[in-house]
Amino acid sequence: MKAWLTYGFNDMRLEDVPMPHAEPGWVVCKVRNLELSVTEIAEFRGLPVPSHENLKNMLAKRAPIQLWGHEFCAEVVEVGAGVTNVKLGDRVFYHRGVPCGTCKYCKAGMSHLCRSVINVSEDTPGCLAEYFPIPASTIAPLPSEITDKEACALQPLVSVAGRMEAVGIEMGDTVVVIGQGPMGIFCTQIAAVTGAGKVIAIARRDPVLEMSKHLGATHTINTTKTDVVEAVMDITKGLGCDVVLECAGGSKDQGHAGTDAFVQGLHMLRNEGRIAEFGHLPVGSTIPIGPIDKKGLHVIGQRSPSPRMIEYAIDLVATKRVQIEPTVTHILHGLDKVPDAIEITGNKAKYGSIGPAQVML
Ligand SMILES: [Zn+2]
Repeated sequence: MKAWLTYGFNDMRLEDVPMPHAEPGWVVCKVRNLELSVTEIAEFRGLPVPSHENLKNMLAKRAPIQLWGHEFCAEVVEVGAGVTNVKLGDRVFYHRGVPCGTCKYCKAGMSHLCRSVINVSEDTPGCLAEYFPIPASTIAPLPSEITDKEACALQPLVSVAGRMEAVGIEMGDTVVVIGQGPMGIFCTQIAAVTGAGKVIAIARRDPVLEMSKHLGATHTINTTKTDVVEAVMDITKGLGCDVVLECAGGSKDQGHAGTDAFVQGLHMLRNEGRIAEFGHLPVGSTIPIGPIDKKGLHVIGQRSPSPRMIEYAIDLVATKRVQIEPTVTHILHGLDKVPDAIEITGNKAKYGSIGPAQVML
């Protein structure tokens, strides 16, 4: 069978590898379709994302490795001993990594606070292949209402729902979503269905903002044309917003906002407002403590999604309250098209894509 093996940063090759087999607690999946996240592409390109040093060490020790690829729709074709949550023939998606089971949090029964999670596609072989093995506890079967295209993008939606649960949206909140990539568009839609009064979507591209409006944003702001802090202050009559969901941050080398959008977010919040970062800010990023301290802001960091949020994300898509398909703008056919998917997903403005390019096998 064929799989993409990574030899180093910017060096991935399609090769013949042995067919995997299911160890106890694992299954083997046949890929139906896959996509790469913007973060994975930044990692592949060797940009200074938080995981860079870890990946550098991993590649130095183990290359070539079947790295990356955790956003997929796949079919279970072999089930290892002891697996009960999925069965042969199930269509499945990946939702979250495996808690380590040995750290002080796991031992205290707080595995959702574990920060030594076994991550699929880094610590285990990823899905850039015809078949791949995966721990069964990291996947869930899909209801028939969810299409393959939607299933492929369900993992980032679960991740967004998990973080938004930590932020907490209250009825009537004014929620600002900075950046309208796939994470931002998911934030916009979930904010709209969970009780936000106003949902203000901010982005650089007008066609993207049109889609945000169609999917639940009550206000849109093009950051290239308007001072976004002033605009939010105008909309909230000078009070500031309750919540900022920041989805534009990340390496400026890859066209992201660095920490600029996060800092704008701090300035547009009301006293005791909440802010969460959904991008991956470059290592060593600094943010000013001034507005956080002065206004008593709450900064919410990362967490693993709870089982409840995994169910919730599935329900939101199955009942069409959250739309994924409009964000899938580019579809390629064949495993050999992975480099084209990387090119498109890594240069979304150039290709006019919204979500990552999907590859159908
Ligand atoms: Zn642990």
